[in-house]
Amino acid sequence: MPKLWREVIVVMLRGSVAAAAGMAQRRHNHPMGAAPPQDLALFERGWLSSNNILLHGSSDGEHATLIDSGHVSHAAQTIALVRQALRPGQTLARVVNTHLHSDHCGGNAALVRAFGARTVIPPGDADAVAAWDENQLSYKLTNQRIERFFFDALLRPGESLRVGTRTWQAHAAPGHDPHSLILFDAASGILISADALWEKGFGVVFPELDGIDAFDAVAATLELIASLDARLVIPGHGAAFTDVAGALQRARSRLARFVADPASHARQAIKALAKYHLLEVGREPLPGLLAWFSTTPIVGRVWWRLGGPEGHCAAWGERLLAELLAQRALVLRDGIVHNE
Ligand SMILES: [Zn+2]
Repeated sequence: MPKLWREVIVVMLRGSVAAAAGMAQRRHNHPMGAAPPQDLALFERGWLSSNNILLHGSSDGEHATLIDSGHVSHAAQTIALVRQALRPGQTLARVVNTHLHSDHCGGNAALVRAFGARTVIPPGDADAVAAWDENQLSYKLTNQRIERFFFDALLRPGESLRVGTRTWQAHAAPGHDPHSLILFDAASGILISADALWEKGFGVVFPELDGIDAFDAVAATLELIASLDARLVIPGHGAAFTDVAGALQRARSRLARFVADPASHARQAIKALAKYHLLEVGREPLPGLLAWFSTTPIVGRVWWRLGGPEGHCAAWGERLLAELLAQRALVLRDGIVHNE
């Protein structure tokens, strides 16, 4: 698939590492050879910010579109990345969100301020965004940071997004999020898969944490992706990849394990959210992190749904934290919990 790769400029920006290095960036074309005109740039971020994909417009003055905007705490980085990738005379006309988790739309408001971009969202959460209902939008439930944003237009499943010479078909991709979209350019076989498919797995199946069956929706979304026969997948997190069949196989077996043992999914999800919280705050004194377990609504709901393990939510949180420390996913030094 070398030709496809040549269409993608990968900008590596590993959140905290790059921040420490003063936004030093490693920008490289894929080693497959000299780069012909590129109309698409991937900003590969880390886990706190989703990847961003900049779609350049056509050369006759069409402005650019950005797919997903990262986390609010990386908004300045996101603006800088966009600014650097834009062509002379070009601005950012649109931000399109695949879904509205805080790692995918946290830069929306800042991008509107910086570029005057229009904001386009999937329809499922439109009312909640208009009313800024943080309960329905998951930010209250997960205790995650976000900056309020507004939207100008909707992108519905079945509609397409035209940018330059490409036509991106929007498909509903429920499972990880009931309202998520994935975007497929059939002409080139490039799929923007959001958190529905990563190279190794997929995002937390959030409805399941609220007692809503969604593993079947994950399976259906994986089938949909298989049917698209994509040649290159740009996921919401991690590097772009071409072994789509391998990724689908890994995702299906991961799903099968969760279906067989939903409690393991719930426990992993809360641990992933705790890790995400640490990425948000950087580091935290141990009592603060333990308080996060006791006061974050989704943790209490999952604890209750699992039958109240350890007798108390705080004790369960301590146990999950001990597991994260044992796995070296988090590190405790002098009473402060760090990411690494
Ligand atoms: Zn997500």
